[in-house]
Formats: sequence, structure tokens, C-alpha cells
Amino acid sequence: MKITLKDGSSKDYAGAMSVLDIAKDISEGLARNACAGEIDGERVDLRTMVDKDCTLNILTFADQGGADAFRHTTSHIMAQAIKRLYPTAKLSIGPSIEDGFYYDIEFDESINEEAFEAIEAEMKKIVKEDLPLEYFTKPRAEAIAYMEEQKEPYKVELIRDLPEDAVISFYKQGEFTDLCAGPHLMSTGKVKAFKLTKLAGAYWRGNVENKMLTRIYGTSFPKASELEEYLAKLEEAKNRDHRKIGKELSLFMTDDLIGKGLPMFLPKGYTMWMELENYIKEKERNLGYQHVMTPCVGTVALYQTSGHWDHYKENMFPAMEVEGENFVLRPMNCPHHMMIYANKRHSYRDLPIRIGEIAHDFRFEPSGSLKGIERGRHFCQNDAHLFVTPEQIKDEVSRVVDLIFDVYKDFGITDYRCVLSLRDPADTKKYHPDDEMWNTAENALRQVLNEIGIEFTEEIGEAAFYGPKLDVNVKPAVGTEYTLSTCQLDFCLPAKFNLKYIDSDGSEQTPVVLHRAILGSLDRFMAYIIEETKGKFPVWLSPVQVKVLPISDKYQEYSKSVLQKLKAAGIRAEMDLRTEKIGYKIREARLEKVPYMLVLGQKEEENGNIAVRSRFLGDEGSRDLDGFIKQVLDEIAGKVIREEVNEETDRK
Ligand SMILES: [Zn+2]
Ligand SMILES: [Zn+2]
Repeated sequence: MKITLKDGSSKDYAGAMSVLDIAKDISEGLARNACAGEIDGERVDLRTMVDKDCTLNILTFADQGGADAFRHTTSHIMAQAIKRLYPTAKLSIGPSIEDGFYYDIEFDESINEEAFEAIEAEMKKIVKEDLPLEYFTKPRAEAIAYMEEQKEPYKVELIRDLPEDAVISFYKQGEFTDLCAGPHLMSTGKVKAFKLTKLAGAYWRGNVENKMLTRIYGTSFPKASELEEYLAKLEEAKNRDHRKIGKELSLFMTDDLIGKGLPMFLPKGYTMWMELENYIKEKERNLGYQHVMTPCVGTVALYQTSGHWDHYKENMFPAMEVEGENFVLRPMNCPHHMMIYANKRHSYRDLPIRIGEIAHDFRFEPSGSLKGIERGRHFCQNDAHLFVTPEQIKDEVSRVVDLIFDVYKDFGITDYRCVLSLRDPADTKKYHPDDEMWNTAENALRQVLNEIGIEFTEEIGEAAFYGPKLDVNVKPAVGTEYTLSTCQLDFCLPAKFNLKYIDSDGSEQTPVVLHRAILGSLDRFMAYIIEETKGKFPVWLSPVQVKVLPISDKYQEYSKSVLQKLKAAGIRAEMDLRTEKIGYKIREARLEKVPYMLVLGQKEEENGNIAVRSRFLGDEGSRDLDGFIKQVLDEIAGKVIREEVNEETDRK
């Protein structure tokens, strides 16, 4: 038989060979690192016999398929360890996932992460036992009887749901046997480094009507150093997690009684939120935007007119009926702005008209995908709709692009890339079906981007349902890239809403609409800033900009007068009047990530000045108050991002 390998070369063998033996024949090193195989595109075990002409890939941990087999084998090892420790536990499914694995298990007793240590210790034993995984099949009736005998009801259900002609396969390692299609490693001994990472509830088959099972997540690597590196990255992500920092800094809260995915901004968080709102609104005002306020609820008919009902319904909350009329919580406010445009007759001289709103929107997100203020069911979009003539498209897109980069400069955002998002012509369900409209819009936007001279890549199937868009994607400190800013070109909605303007020749024309968002959603942007800065915000965004710390009660009066002056200058200042040691007060203010601390004692009172400590340099020495106030106001006005002291000095 002739085996064609990945690199195009081929090998001839006289008789059937296992994938592993073929790997050995290629090289011992490859055989050592091999995790699985791929025959004609289908993933198989290393133990699978090859007996006919085919193409064969040997998959190592570096290949997704190899890593999957490796991690999935680890899930079997975990299940075996759990069955040893909890013989009555019932297993359901245990797949590999992007960077690890999980297993959903029903326990008689409820367990928590404290159980991990014992489970991991048992897993270590199983790895050391180096048990070979043995593959076998059973006819359906026997398979069901076998799993019934093992008291594994979920497995019985899984077998019953397999198609009549399915091969029902099992893998046995030592005393443990699992129903599984594979592929797996040859033996448990290869799994040198693993860690159980978290525990969560998961409904059997994801259905809330079913029993809640315990999902245990873990990950594994061929080398301990790789595991350590991964865990360090995970730890960094945890430390930057905006939900953790948001809680520590009292920025926002969530409560299931309020509702999942409905975060509430606390005074400090809302202070930041308002700063962002004022910041972007001022920029927009200076560019001729007019701001409006529109309701969060609209009729279903409104969204039928816009097309959202046809193309976006699964992202919306269901309709509610009152007085025979159907309403929905709005997922976006484009239709509202279309109606504001339509409220008045327009001449070509009025255009462009730029309508902006920090708009409250609601989208249905499955509870599993909710994440603090980064992904909620309610959020506020930094939205605007620009109504332009076809001739104005280029200038207006160019202004939006300038605004995006101007804003990024203020926030120190440098890691981003531009994407021209186009429709997928094959996806007629998602996209408004009008090829001519699409070609016009896509060509126009591409041409404008080329003329402006920005670098971009093109991606198919990423467009909005009504038109192509320029997306600006940022790469956050942790996690995957996402779209922060967008500018979308729309020939579709203005026509659906029958929008018009009177052109210079007296004819009625339809305007073109640009949908754009700069900060995206304010909430998500705040999450982004929290994670980028680890809560060390620039002075202008800090909820508390200066903290006044009297050394003792004796200096209260002087401290109060300093506080008054700071507040009168418009600086957000607080005072710590507790009878705590000054070192403790400073440490607490540092944990709150306050940019400036004024330490006031006898010397300061006598000299009528202040001693400044900062998050940036530590001890900044004695200063006169007026000079300090001027410096802080300059930093606020200039949106200055001062360099932070390193963490080492920070701890002193
Ligand atoms: Zn398996
Ligand atoms: Zn819009």
C-alpha cells in the first residue's frame, strides 16, 4: 500500500501497519512525540491499523489534533481518578477544549475546588502506572447492558442516541473503561504535566430542564515548563480581570436578583463612566455632531422596517405585548436615528447631519457568555449616524477615521489593526439580499480607505447585515482580539425608512448613512481600560484623583483646608480621617490606585505646604499647594499618561 505524507512524499509498505509503526519508520523522534494520526483528514488513534492507500498525517502536541488527543486522554485519567475516589460518581461527557479539557460529572455529594488536590494526586498515580489504553467495540444491546451494569445512566443515554449503524467503541485503561470514539494517546504515562483549573455547574446537554452536573476543567502539557508558562499566563489574566479589579475598586456590581448580565455602576465606576461620556461627547460636538436621547423600547414594527427583526432577532429579547401592540427592548438605536432624520425635510445644504447618542441598548446573550461589564445584556453604545450625500462619503469616513486615531492617542492605544469587513455572498440569511447595493457599498468603502491611505485587510462574512464596515480591532493585554471601533457604510436602511433630501437640482435623493462607534460600548471600553491599566487609571479618569492623609487628628483642620482648595479647583479629592497609622493609610490609598496622596503633618502645617506621594514616582517631596493644583489640572486637561513606578518599588 502507498502512504502519502503531509510533505507530499510517499512510502510503500507490503502489509498493514499501525500509525505508530509508520511514525517509527519515519523517525524515532516523531514516534516519541506523536499523539494521534489523521488518515484522509479523519483523526485516528496511533494504534489504528492502516491497510490501504491513503494520505497520513502524524499529529504531535504542536498540532491542534494532537493536543486534542493529549488533553482528551487527560480527561479519561481524571475520570478514572474520580471513579477511584468517588465510586458512585456518574460520568457524562469529557471532551478536549481550546486549551484544555473538561468532564461533566454527577456527584452524590457536592464537591468544590478543595477536592482537586486529592484528584490530582490520584491522577499522578495513574500516569505513573503508565496504563495502556485498549480499544474495543460492542454491539448496541451489549454496550447498553454493560453501561447499565456500570451504573452510568448518561452513557446509556448517549449510546441510545447513536445512529443505528454507529460503531460503539470503548477504551479501557486498567480497571477503568469509558465509552468513547477517541482518539487517545497509547498510554497514560505520556501525560507528564497537568492541572485542574476550575469547577462550574453545567446542565446535562446544556438544557436547563435537565440535571445540573459538575464540570471540572483542567489542562495538560507534555512538559512541566509548558504547563508553568500557561498557568502564569492564566494568573496574569486573573489579575487583570476587570471583574476582580472592578470589585476591589468598587466600580460596579452585579446581582442575580437584579438579573444576570445587568451590571450596576457604583459611584466611583459611574464617575469614570461619565468622564468617558463627557470626553467623547465633547470630541463629537467639536466635529459638528448633535446629540439626542431616544427610548430603550420600540415597536416590533420599527425593527421589521429596519430589517433587524429578520436578520438580528436571535440577539434580541422576545417581544412583549401591551394593548395589542408588540414592543421590544432595543438591541440598537439605528432605527430611532433614522426616524429623527425623517422628522424634518432636508435640503442637500443641511448634509452631513451627524446624530449622536450614548444609547442604552439591550441584547440577549446566553448566560454562559456574560462577562462583567465587558459583555452584558445591557450596555451603552457610543453611537452615531451620519447622513451624507454620496459625494460626502469620503470626507466623512476620513473624519471618522481621524477621530478614531485621535482617541486612541489619548488612551495610548497602539496595538490595533484595520479590517474591511465584507459580506459573505453565500450567506443570504444574514445579509440583506441586494447584490448591486452591496457591490456599490463595498467598492465605495474600499476606495475611500485606499484614498485615505490606511492599511487594512479584508475579511469575508464580517459585514453588518445592511452594509460593509471598517472595523478597528484591538489586541488586549489578555484574551483575544476584538473590534473596538467601527464605521459602517449603509445604502440599505435609509431606503427602508424612505429617507430623502432635496438635491441642488430640486430632485429627491436618498442619503447614505454611516453608522459609527468610536469607544464601542462605554461599558466594554471601560472593561478594556481596566484590564490594560490594571486599575491604574490616568489622573483624568481616576475616580479619586487626590487623597488627603493627615498624619494625626491634630492636623485635621489644616487637612480640611487643603481638601477644600482641591475641591474648589475641581479636583476629585477625598480625605482619610481615620485614626490609623499614616503608613496604613498610604498603603490603603495605594491599593485604591489613587494617583496622588498628600501627607500632612506638623512640618507641612507650619510651612503651609504639602508632602506629595504619587503612584508614579513614590515620594515626590514637599510642594506648595497652588503649584501642585496647577500640575494636576494640567495633567487632567492634557489627559497625561504618566509612567508608573514598577511593582517592586510599589511594595516598599
Ligand atoms: Zn475518550
Ligand atoms: Zn446604527
